[in-house]
Amino acid sequence: MAKLSLEIITGERVLFEETGIDAVIAPGVIGELGILPNHAPLVTVLQPGELRVQREGNADEPFFVSGGFLEVHDDTVTVLADTAERGDEIDLERAEAARARAADRLRSEVDVDRARAQAAMQRSLMRIRIGERRARRRASQRGGDPPSR
Ligand code: ATP
Repeated sequence: MAKLSLEIITGERVLFEETGIDAVIAPGVIGELGILPNHAPLVTVLQPGELRVQREGNADEPFFVSGGFLEVHDDTVTVLADTAERGDEIDLERAEAARARAADRLRSEVDVDRARAQAAMQRSLMRIRIGERRARRRASQRGGDPPSR
């Protein structure tokens, strides 16, 4: 059966480079995008959100991507992201501090770059959502329960 290869590249590093993937779910600007093997060639824009890697018989592998581009060609998916992290790399305290900073800026009366503060808010909220879900899943696995999504 056909499989996908996936590369996630940021300005700083090659974060992920693997083959044998069954599906990639990505945060497209007009909604969640599901890529399966034999997908038509595609180039699209991503928004800040969760990208998930699916492999048969395994729990989804979550990533945060801050936006960028996704290309599909010949069962190869390439993601060029401004920044990205694996779910287990997300520092929840840092994301919470970024959220509080962005909220202060958006509340302040002085001249602030609102679009920039809003983008920072969106990144932090997505990181918090992905990081918390992952922490909950790990806690339930430690407790012997089946992984929750
Ligand atoms: P901060 O204000 O905390 O830097 P930010 O949204 O401005 O947040 P980015 O510009 O998106 O940060 O990312 C800068 C670098 O820091 C990237 O390498 C990114 O992967 C990393 N990074 C940002 N926030 C986190 C986090 N909460 N956990 C882990 N890595 C993070």
